[in-house]
Amino acid sequence: MEAHEFDLNDFEKKLSIVDGAGIVLQEFLSILDGKKPAMVFGLGDESFKEKIETAFPGIYIRFSKNQPFLPRLICGVALDENKAAEAAEYLSMNPDDQGVVLGYPKCCVTSHMRFVIESQALNAPLVTYNSFKNSQSLNYLTNNIFNFYSRIGYQEKNMLDYARYGESNINLPINTINFQYISHIPCRYDCEASVAWGKITEGLMKKYTPNVEAIIKNTLARPILFVDLFEWIVFDGKVSDGVLSYNGILPPKAFPDEGLMKAVLEGNRLKVDDQRIEVFNDDRLIISIPKKDERNGFLMDFSVKE
Ligand SMILES: [Zn+2]
Repeated sequence: MEAHEFDLNDFEKKLSIVDGAGIVLQEFLSILDGKKPAMVFGLGDESFKEKIETAFPGIYIRFSKNQPFLPRLICGVALDENKAAEAAEYLSMNPDDQGVVLGYPKCCVTSHMRFVIESQALNAPLVTYNSFKNSQSLNYLTNNIFNFYSRIGYQEKNMLDYARYGESNINLPINTINFQYISHIPCRYDCEASVAWGKITEGLMKKYTPNVEAIIKNTLARPILFVDLFEWIVFDGKVSDGVLSYNGILPPKAFPDEGLMKAVLEGNRLKVDDQRIEVFNDDRLIISIPKKDERNGFLMDFSVKE
């Protein structure tokens, strides 16, 4: 794979085309830099194929022969025409082969395969809790909570929630699809291969899109109360001895339980164990919510530890 030389100032100008096409910036940078063999995405407007291929000579966009999700056109993107065409057909591959074509770590693909075989791949609390429980520590480079590829499926409810999520965050300075360093579901939040991959993306972003990098790190390297795919809260705070002390919450916005959210806005401390979620203002208990099970709301701390 040959890396693509491109000029930084020039690139900033072209970035709006990539963003306008709805392409995840991090993946595109990895392709351009020769770090990733290929990527796939759904193009809403066919005219972007030519715009992107013209703006980035050497990049190939190839459409799948099979388009089940019209009006979005599934396509593969790569520095190699054959690889772009191959990636475009990812839906007819098993997840193992998809992982190879898209350059995902083997350990994470194997972990994902297990959930696919058990028909649990879209069970976000189960899949996320599994990666969380397997981890010794949590690295922000592997934080995939705001990345919905392979997690959302094509169920109507999820698609509607995803559209609502996009609309609720329309005022953010960057597209919500760009809140990520890795594109896959990590087997653990300290998976070495995923951290290494995240570091590469972080380096590319610091070099080519430092403003976007600063915005995403400000969200990804934080404590997050995770309940479900579109139910979570990102905190500006610190976790110590299992208790989160916080000053506020951070974007993007999701749709957590309204009672919980109201309490969080009134409070400044949050405690989670296997049985319940409790919110306090100093020592005054504001709300205590019983959990259905241990996966029904858990605190993941992606903060950088000093
Ligand atoms: Zn892994």
